[in-house]
Amino acid sequence: MGVLAVQGDVREHLRALEESGARAIGVRRPDELAQVDGLVLPGGESTTIDKLLRAFELQAPLRERIAEGLPVYGSCAGMILLADRVLDATGDQQTLGGLDVTVRRNAFGRQVDSFETELFVHGVDGGAMHAVFIRAPWVEAVGPEVEVLATVPEGPAAGRVVAVQQGPLLATSFHPEVTGDHRIHRHFVTQTLRG
Ligand code: GLN
Repeated sequence: MGVLAVQGDVREHLRALEESGARAIGVRRPDELAQVDGLVLPGGESTTIDKLLRAFELQAPLRERIAEGLPVYGSCAGMILLADRVLDATGDQQTLGGLDVTVRRNAFGRQVDSFETELFVHGVDGGAMHAVFIRAPWVEAVGPEVEVLATVPEGPAAGRVVAVQQGPLLATSFHPEVTGDHRIHRHFVTQTLRG
């Protein structure tokens, strides 16, 4: 498995993948991308990651692998990068796309920049999960092929969609790599190895 390693909390995702039973490498170059069977797009700043993807000539090969069915898990900024449509995008911000959703950047911003809650993720056993949101997007609209896996249970953002899956593409608004609960990574690794 790979973790896109141009910006963001790469190390935590590498550890979570390793602890979920996968071999994991950082991906910075097209030849590293070619070696992986699944990829994590970490949180960070989606506009910066977009610029670096273009500068490192990773955007085109990544779009190609996604179109071929590469399993990809995007967290926070990674969710934005997987989205086909972005609200409140900056400048000429581009995404990789593949996930038929509309996300809103910094969506929780006006109420609270960052917050934590307990939520249930469909298809992930073991009860509620502690979810950490950091200047996170939410999903504002989903296409017919997209399965909603989690919503915010309570508070001002109650009902907002924060985890989705479409075939091999998985995305969460929150950051499971910071809590030590690796169930999302395990779910992704299991699904990738099965596929
Ligand atoms: N606000 C960031 C963005 O728009 C995402 C924040 C994060 O990944 N923690 O890219």
